[in-house]
Amino acid sequence: MRWLLGLLVLAACQTGQYDLKNWMQDDGKIKVLATVGMIGDLAKEIGGDEVDVIVLIKGDLDPHTYQLVKGDDEKLFRADVIFANGLGLEHGPNLNAHLSSSDKTCFLGSRLKEKYPDDIIRVDGQTDPHIWMDLSLYAKALPVITEALSKIRPEKKALFLERQEKLYSELMKGHETVRSIMQRVPSEKRYLVTSHDAFNYFAKAYLATSEELQENAWQKRFQAPEGLSPDSQLSQKDISDIVEHVKKYHIEVIFPESNVSPDSLKKIREAAREKGLEITLGNPYLYADAMGPKGSPGDTYLKMVISNAKTIAEDLMGETSGQK
Ligand SMILES: [Zn+2]
Repeated sequence: MRWLLGLLVLAACQTGQYDLKNWMQDDGKIKVLATVGMIGDLAKEIGGDEVDVIVLIKGDLDPHTYQLVKGDDEKLFRADVIFANGLGLEHGPNLNAHLSSSDKTCFLGSRLKEKYPDDIIRVDGQTDPHIWMDLSLYAKALPVITEALSKIRPEKKALFLERQEKLYSELMKGHETVRSIMQRVPSEKRYLVTSHDAFNYFAKAYLATSEELQENAWQKRFQAPEGLSPDSQLSQKDISDIVEHVKKYHIEVIFPESNVSPDSLKKIREAAREKGLEITLGNPYLYADAMGPKGSPGDTYLKMVISNAKTIAEDLMGETSGQK
């Protein structure tokens, strides 16, 4: 089997190199560099055949701490436009410095913060960058992409706008789908615990009740042992706080994320067990800071959020087995 795996890896690498080689060439398309897959997906939808998109931070790499590697400089130099999330997501020092100083960079998060400051969540005094977790919120950032592409290719502005509107309705339809999936879970079971603080926007949009939103008391719907950026350096207090939370709200399932080690959740499961509480780990992993690979249930931005909702709902309602 190992040789087969080797061949698959080789094929995947060659595809990546082929894509990159094509992307570097001048073929009349707008060369788009997106920091994360979710933004690349939106840029492809709006740009269509007029754009050629590559993603800088791929697979399970952590966008919070990603540092530029050999070859990235060429991509940043070659790109006609760079789309980034901002709000502190891409804070690896050399990437952050480049994004902030380049006049080609467009931050989706900055636009949202400017136009809808009340929609931006702060956690312990820091801005939470995980805005993609609320489909209706990320949908409001689509004009950033349309405007940037239209500036480069003004004759295609109407086309970009048309695609933006279509995408906007799809995302809003997805928003309602996710809301109804989550509202199917009884309120007393609608509590989410994952590895790091990536699901605050999801909790506010899809898990909270209207009273909790009015009273600004929705935060109990989501807790994570690791902070806004996953670090897995858990203190004893981090662990006991989550165990207390799990006990208080009778939580039975906690959810690992695809791009974060599940070790911290395993420590929590152990600590809970010592107190006589049995919790399981959700299955499959949730997509937090990255989409799934091609062919997986999370291989587009919209599918990623819907897939998360289904996993969370099924596991919270005990419709799947979970990992003991
Ligand atoms: Zn994150």
